[in-house]
Amino acid sequence: MVNTKILDGKLTSEKLTEKLKLQVANLAKKPTLAVLLVGDNPASEIYVKAKLKKAQSIGFDTIFEQMSADTAEEIILEKIEDWNTIDDINGILVQLPLPSHLNKNKILNEIDEEKDVDGLTKFNSGSYYTGVKDCVVPCTTRGIAMLLDEYGINVEGMHAVVVGRSNLVGKPTAQMLLNRNATVTVCHSKTKDLESIIKTADIVVSAVGEKIINGKILKNDSIVIDVGIERRSNGKITGDVDFDSALGHASFISPVPGGVGPMTVIALMYNLFDLYRRQQHLLQ
Ligand code: NAP
Repeated sequence: MVNTKILDGKLTSEKLTEKLKLQVANLAKKPTLAVLLVGDNPASEIYVKAKLKKAQSIGFDTIFEQMSADTAEEIILEKIEDWNTIDDINGILVQLPLPSHLNKNKILNEIDEEKDVDGLTKFNSGSYYTGVKDCVVPCTTRGIAMLLDEYGINVEGMHAVVVGRSNLVGKPTAQMLLNRNATVTVCHSKTKDLESIIKTADIVVSAVGEKIINGKILKNDSIVIDVGIERRSNGKITGDVDFDSALGHASFISPVPGGVGPMTVIALMYNLFDLYRRQQHLLQ
């Protein structure tokens, strides 16, 4: 039986919050995060509230605007254009998912690349995938990287299996693991025999939103990062991994809740801090 250790995202994010608070307290001016939510998706409302609360607790100023789900695309583009021109706004976040009548890529790409706090514009994505050092890393990926660093996990030479290939999580996380010299396999809904691929993984990152992993299909001593979020009808949140059955197989596992979720939020705060310092020429 392997003694499984917990990758505690809540505790790690609290430590990183305290560290950031000290740095922000030394700034001449408070950085500002502007958040746009379109629609009233209950999960999105919870995430936005958590992001604004964390930002304020660190000492950032926040601007929040919520628009109805049927808002025309031009109105959203105008709002972003307006925020782009306001010098006091340092980071702009458009909460995803957007209602289906809207062109997500067009809206995300309207954000000034220097204020792209989620790192999802084509400029930042292109920079990231071509190895530009000072680009913005998407928040969940940066959060996972920070969690690996906190626990001293070096993935070099490991076989990493990433399940999910979204622009938001799967692809940038695969790139992050590749940058750290892991050998990366990316899986998705059309992958054949997913279980046997996961069985060969030294580290698994699962970003699907369905319960697809249990202890039986994990290699002993593997590291398990559970990004998935499944909201049960009783209001409870679980991840992609059957946590209890993974205990005794995995060497490390991130729980849901309390794993990647809080790390995504704190990574957003570090992204804002970096954008601010870059805009003020405080970061080389
Ligand atoms: P997404 O865009 O819906 O992508 C899901 C991915 O999972 C797709 O690539 C899809 O494959 C793949 N997939 C679906 N069913 C599968 C299956 N049975 N076997 C293997 N792969 C399968 O979602 P996302 O935005 O990346 O988010 C993924 C999950 O992470 C969601 O549960 C989301 O709520 C959660 N999330 C959590 C955080 C956090 O901070 N904790 C942040 C962001 C997202 P195809 O490409 O073939 O369709």
